[in-house]
Amino acid sequence: MAKSTTDRYLENNKRYAGGQAEHKPTYPGKLPINPARRVAVVACMDARLDVEDLLGLQTGDAHVIRNAGGVVSDDTIRCLIISHHLLDTNEIILIHHTRCGMLAFTDDLLKAGLEGDPAAGKLLAQATGRAFTGCKKSAAMPSAFHAFRGQPEPLDAPRGAKQTERLEWDVRRGMSSILNHPWIPTGGPDAVTVRGFIYDVDTGKLEEVSYPGPMGSIG
Ligand SMILES: [Zn+2]
Repeated sequence: MAKSTTDRYLENNKRYAGGQAEHKPTYPGKLPINPARRVAVVACMDARLDVEDLLGLQTGDAHVIRNAGGVVSDDTIRCLIISHHLLDTNEIILIHHTRCGMLAFTDDLLKAGLEGDPAAGKLLAQATGRAFTGCKKSAAMPSAFHAFRGQPEPLDAPRGAKQTERLEWDVRRGMSSILNHPWIPTGGPDAVTVRGFIYDVDTGKLEEVSYPGPMGSIG
């Protein structure tokens, strides 16, 4: 079977983790609007991820959609629908990573802290090492922060089995949201493929997450 673009990017990632520069940083000249490699990447906004470098993307290759966690939110789905149906991408790469900040809080805790709950504020300050200042106001938006399911762990905690499991759960949840969306075709001539990965910030390496698989519990 022919190698997919995603497979080629995984080969680039091995070289990147080995210390080789894969992304060319100079202005490439005039390019078409459609991503040349027909890829859309969804990744966390974490400062330690340089998505273009770690995949060896060249300018013009791919759409890169980033947010806190690399979660598949309403807005991510919006971007992916536009990316595929209007700009012709057909491979989606989902990237979560070790030591992610989304492992260290819950939606309820952050919301309570922002609304001024002093106990929540104290817990958030302990978790982040930063003074947490509540705003003492409620807000309808955002409707969710999408913190990862499971027992929160200290911010930037090194990877353990539980952390890997929680990351895998969320990658699968995101893949499921994409694969089951009525406006993202996964069969027939216009099909999109979706693959999910965990990027290890301590090694620079990507690891694929099996799908389908467990989606997690709150325990
Ligand atoms: Zn993150």
